[in-house]
Amino acid sequence: MAEQQYFKPRSVDEASALLGDHPGAVIIGGGAYVRLGSRKITTAVDLFDAGLDYVRAGADGLELGAMATFRMLETDSLVNGYADGVVSRSVERIVGVQMRNITTVGGTLYGRYGFSNLITALLALDAEVALHRAGRMPLERFFTTKPDPGDILTGVILPDLPWRAAWRDLTRTVNDYAVLNTAVAVREGQARVVVGARPGRGVRCAEAEAALLAGGEGAADKAGRAAAAELEFGDDVRASAAYRRELCGTLVARAAREVLS
Ligand SMILES: Cc1cc2nc3c(=O)[nH]c(=O)nc-3n(C[C@H](O)[C@H](O)[C@H](O)COP(=O)(O)OP(=O)(O)OC[C@H]3O[C@@H](n4cnc5c(N)ncnc54)[C@H](O)[C@@H]3O)c2cc1C
Repeated sequence: MAEQQYFKPRSVDEASALLGDHPGAVIIGGGAYVRLGSRKITTAVDLFDAGLDYVRAGADGLELGAMATFRMLETDSLVNGYADGVVSRSVERIVGVQMRNITTVGGTLYGRYGFSNLITALLALDAEVALHRAGRMPLERFFTTKPDPGDILTGVILPDLPWRAAWRDLTRTVNDYAVLNTAVAVREGQARVVVGARPGRGVRCAEAEAALLAGGEGAADKAGRAAAAELEFGDDVRASAAYRRELCGTLVARAAREVLS
């Protein structure tokens, strides 16, 4: 990464004004992924001092600022206490502490990475995103809209709902992306089953959710089989599509058993 102009605004409004004044400017979150690329950046707007590095209890639920790092999600007592700590579990083994001290919520969601553990966990909890220009919207909708390069993701809201939730992934080494990841969440009359790193981005599995809601004997195994049958999987250097499908049934069933226990 090489940039010619570097700004460190002290508020979101200031950052937004800079983006307006410098079309093509690139937002820097943790910078971990931006740095990997060879792209030439004329203007960088670093959100480090913009006041978005928080985890707090808000009026509508738990609020994660866009500059909250994975390390904060891993160690913060509010995040640990929310939905059986599933958000913390999703990030706590990614690479190493130094990396988790850098990588941010905003950079992860704007990056829309297929392998992302955090995206899978947040989708299972009906998270909403807050954008400076576009306002609030469900995370699922955010992923179906074209990203506006001039907008700023300011944070995530996790609704105050009593989810029971569980996390499972298969990751061969701490330095690698997951072969597959899954988050399962249930509460009165609702179930969420999300599978990511397929290697595509995390998506909900309607049939698996229906199997969990139907309940009864073997509901967890039925949910696993349903997720494996309904989702699309792909091949990459980590695993074949066939392996991922097999794995999906096992991981979803294990996570489902945990939330139903
Ligand atoms: C070596 C390495 C290994 C990794 N391994 C894993 C892994 O195993 N599992 C996993 O889940 N993740 C993994 N990640 C991804 C990581 O967890 C983050 O998702 C990624 O680094 C992006 O976060 P960042 O803060 O570094 O974003 P940045 O690199 O700063 O930004 C990413 C993109 O988002 C934009 N952006 C940043 N913040 C905002 C904002 N607030 N509003 C709007 N746009 C914004 C930037 O302009 C850029 O386009 C890995 C990353 C690296 C570098």
